[in-house]
Amino acid sequence: MTSQPSTTSPAESVLAGRTLWIPRMTYAGARMMAAVFRSIGIDAAVTPESDERTLELGGLYSSGEECYPEKITLGDFLRVTEADDFDPDRTAFFMPTAEGPCRFGQYAPYLRQVLADLGHEGIPVISPTSKNSYDDFTAHAGDFMRRGWWALCTADIVTKLLLKTRPYETTAGDTDAAFERALDVMDAVVSDASLPGSRRLAAIAEALVEVRDLFRSIPARYVKGRPLIGVVGEIFCRLNTYVNRDAARRIEAHGGEAWLSDVGEWVWYTNWSQKGTLRRDGKGFSVAMLGALIKNHIQRRDEAKLYAAFAEDFIGYEEPHDIHDDVLKPGWPYLPADGALGEMALSIGKSIYLHRKGADGIIDISPFSCMNGIVSEAVYHAVSRDHDGIPIRNFYFDATSSNMDRDLDIFMELAHSYRRRKPCPRRYPPCFA
Ligand code: SF4
Repeated sequence: MTSQPSTTSPAESVLAGRTLWIPRMTYAGARMMAAVFRSIGIDAAVTPESDERTLELGGLYSSGEECYPEKITLGDFLRVTEADDFDPDRTAFFMPTAEGPCRFGQYAPYLRQVLADLGHEGIPVISPTSKNSYDDFTAHAGDFMRRGWWALCTADIVTKLLLKTRPYETTAGDTDAAFERALDVMDAVVSDASLPGSRRLAAIAEALVEVRDLFRSIPARYVKGRPLIGVVGEIFCRLNTYVNRDAARRIEAHGGEAWLSDVGEWVWYTNWSQKGTLRRDGKGFSVAMLGALIKNHIQRRDEAKLYAAFAEDFIGYEEPHDIHDDVLKPGWPYLPADGALGEMALSIGKSIYLHRKGADGIIDISPFSCMNGIVSEAVYHAVSRDHDGIPIRNFYFDATSSNMDRDLDIFMELAHSYRRRKPCPRRYPPCFA
């Protein structure tokens, strides 16, 4: 008698009857990931919006050596344990992990340690890692990863729509309201467990058309000339509006428009990095390499389907087509991506990419004391010098201070001045005509 394959993974068994709390690196991304979990039968929710208590708890249970994003995620998870209806037997936390020198790899083990210190060692911390190809979700592994990618693309698209519309709205608040509505629309589709696999991608793409039309219908005055500010830097800090004190909105308040480096960029980078590692290990022609190439191909194909309806809306806002050719290679003379690794190489290369796209200035947003921002800052001077003097400025954030408002006035003056003499013109979508 042959045994039947299990339809329940170890993680799903552990999560039965629990709510899986997703940290909000980006609000949109966390909502979409929670929806993906619900689509495979796992109850999931986004951690509450960060506040002063987040900082208190994050500070109380850390030594001061941890990076700022770790304090925030830890504090937000601990706030869940303080809620009136908190039940440790019905709670689980989602904290992905990674290999390598970045402190991100310590987040999940440290969270487990703190929970144990508080007597909550029974709360599962689910930490999928690319190392085991997300085997924690074996019952849905391939499907989960693909749904996760669609969710991530969806979050990136909705965020892009927010940022390209809000600076031009004629009634304050319209675009923020549309953003929330768009997330509700997409949440309903992404979390729909009844959708057959063959229909799922098409259904998400169709819902995105509805979202596109929602943003298109916002009353706005699209007037050319507003400085376009590329935002690069450490991924959590640049994307989390609490950590960066809503930097994109501040840029808008100072007369600019933000082009925020998205999450997809990091996925393309890790795909590129995976192929490099396989070649270095003598597996240039291997099953693993074939798998990596197929994954990359499928992700590109799916991404194209999801972005198809936005060809006109995203004219002038096109993301890099090839992470090596368009981002890492131009940045190589300043930070070789096979040596510098990670976000610092991406930040440098993306700055050059954005310069070519007609950006009027670049802002790097990083946590105070994070190596990525510090190394990038050391080479931005040369990048600016070699690229027509485009203004590039680092902004560092921690729990206590931000120099952003004080320095944005000056930075925007530089951006305006650069805009008048820049050699790379910006393209605009037809709504600006
Ligand atoms: S990049 Fe810096 S701030 Fe981000 S997780 Fe790593 S060490 Fe922390």
